[in-house]
Amino acid sequence: MRVEEIKAALKELASDKEIEILQETDDEILVYDLEYGKEIAYNLNMTVEKLIDKIYINPSIPKYCTPDKKKVAEYLIKHLPVDAFYTLNKICFVYGEETDCETLAQFFDEDVDWAREVIFSDNLGKMWFEYNSVLIDVKNIIESAEQIAREDRAMGWPSSERTDTMRQIAITLVHELRHLMLDTNIVLSEEEYPVNLSAEESVEHFAVRTIGMYGHNIFTERGYNIADIIPCV
Ligand SMILES: [Zn+2]
Repeated sequence: MRVEEIKAALKELASDKEIEILQETDDEILVYDLEYGKEIAYNLNMTVEKLIDKIYINPSIPKYCTPDKKKVAEYLIKHLPVDAFYTLNKICFVYGEETDCETLAQFFDEDVDWAREVIFSDNLGKMWFEYNSVLIDVKNIIESAEQIAREDRAMGWPSSERTDTMRQIAITLVHELRHLMLDTNIVLSEEEYPVNLSAEESVEHFAVRTIGMYGHNIFTERGYNIADIIPCV
């Protein structure tokens, strides 16, 4: 959707008393959604620099699977439609630590106990509807990749937990951003994005297809080797 379409659709919702427009600048329209009781800040022109500012990465994440903020921002802007960014507030790569809880509580003006409940779950990722944000739990992704690798080895198959971890981080990022776009943008065009796209399989399919060959580009270090994920015949 173009910015003019977003603006016009928000004005219409405001005149129908479904939302209140709290603030409007060239870069952002801040609205209050009366149905769900939450604020949504519409980013009207997302850039790599602005996207970098929205990314939090826990410094304890192992080096090999630490995303690089600039590479993540460049990758997402290049490979996702502009609609993916209108309602995005934060992208958080957490590592299941107390510092994550403190940081998140601060970001969303909540208490630390609330953040603990969210962080210490076993999800690989989460889309936060209330805060228009996504969370990627790198610790849980590593544990899941290790478990799969152990099972593969037990079967006598080749295993590569590092490659799987990096690939799953990239997929989870795109997966949760897809949920965010489909579920938090109250003026998203239903013609362009029919409701069935929100189904879990459809979201995962989009993420896997998007990450495809180039998801390895988002990491600080070399990233995973594409050859590792293409089965040899
Ligand atoms: Zn999902």
